[in-house]
Amino acid sequence: MTNPQPEKTRILVAEDTEVISTLMVELLRENGYLVELACDGEECLQKAHSFSPDLILLDLMMPKIHGQEVLRRLKEDDRTQKIEVIVCTAKTYKQDLDQVRNFGVYDIVSKPFDPKELLHVVARHLALMKENQATQSLSQTTDSYQPTISLDRCFYQFWGTRGSIPVSGPRYVRHGGNTACLEVGDSTTSVVIDAGSGIRDLGHKLAQKGPHKIYLFISHTHWDHIQGFPFFAPAYLPGYELIIYGVPVSTNGKDLRSLFRGQLDVDYFPVNFEAMKAHIEFRSLAEQKVHIDGLEISWEYTIHPATTVAFCVKMHGRKLAYLSDNEFLYGYLGSPAEINLHSPIIQPSNNLLHLLMDADLLLSEAQYTNDEYQSKIGWGHTSLSNACCLATLTRAKRWVITHHDPAHDDDFLAQKLNLTREILRRLNNPIEVFHAYDGLLEFF
Ligand SMILES: [Zn+2]
Ligand SMILES: [Zn+2]
Repeated sequence: MTNPQPEKTRILVAEDTEVISTLMVELLRENGYLVELACDGEECLQKAHSFSPDLILLDLMMPKIHGQEVLRRLKEDDRTQKIEVIVCTAKTYKQDLDQVRNFGVYDIVSKPFDPKELLHVVARHLALMKENQATQSLSQTTDSYQPTISLDRCFYQFWGTRGSIPVSGPRYVRHGGNTACLEVGDSTTSVVIDAGSGIRDLGHKLAQKGPHKIYLFISHTHWDHIQGFPFFAPAYLPGYELIIYGVPVSTNGKDLRSLFRGQLDVDYFPVNFEAMKAHIEFRSLAEQKVHIDGLEISWEYTIHPATTVAFCVKMHGRKLAYLSDNEFLYGYLGSPAEINLHSPIIQPSNNLLHLLMDADLLLSEAQYTNDEYQSKIGWGHTSLSNACCLATLTRAKRWVITHHDPAHDDDFLAQKLNLTREILRRLNNPIEVFHAYDGLLEFF
């Protein structure tokens, strides 16, 4: 018979028949319990105080004070009401047993008893007691522990993580198929970066909040970064203010306003720009830094076939870098281990690397596998190993890969992530890396 914590378990035997009490006391002591004997009801109550038992084995028909009365007094007294009681009785009338159970007693042993049966009931009762105590303390802990996210925490949320064109279907359910859109901020202010198809869902959320000012930063005006804008609900709502930041002029010399108006041209879309009732203002990224409440947004040009920028958002002493479209180490097919900050091939990216350096979070692309990159040099995106090189050289603390190629389905991306980790391991870079997916929300 196993005995839970026998050295700590104190049992008071209240029994007036000497033959039985001797048998019980010896049996329990042999099994490691600390035992005291009370020969009548009065002594039982007295020893319930002086001996402080965990458990009382209580006979009902006892001299001086009857067992039922002993039970009643034990349960009425604050100091003794938590002591567990097993009633040991030769009286098995239903009425008597029901009355005993009214005092919360749930183990009753009929006399004469089998010693093994008694030990079994005692052990089971003690095990239950222990379990109840553990549950009680756990539920007390659960009740009082109500953590919340601290108000100075920064967050980012991906609303679209696909590059080039949206995708859909069962092969894309884990990462999602919306094109580029990111929200970054803290508990009071947030900014939106890029207006790919993911901005449609974000728009629904912002439309629920009621009229307010929305800041939208555009990395460049390739379709996958602006195509969601005509479906951005707050743009159509009076009272909303929309401030859109982008590079002063495009590669073709067009300004941001004409580029946005252009995609709402009647040849492309049934609703024109004038139907947008929000106050919409276009601002050039003329200054290197933009301040919005506690957020500082800076930017730098990337290597991509359009005037394209990367952004860095600083807030609460933390730094998030966002680099969606960039061809790092243009044309380089060699090992990333060969490249360092002084390599000549790095020079065109010096300013960009400076912007990205030491970010708490680097959100950036690694669009092509090394194999794919060989036939896509000059398309404006980075090979996987060159992207690992960038994450390593800029000493990013954490790397989230986004702007997934539309040809890369969920299974392919899972394999690609394993390869990314392998390349980083060979570069001795212990950075944590994972893939962004539509809806991903993290505090940092
Ligand atoms: Zn893109
Ligand atoms: Zn692009």
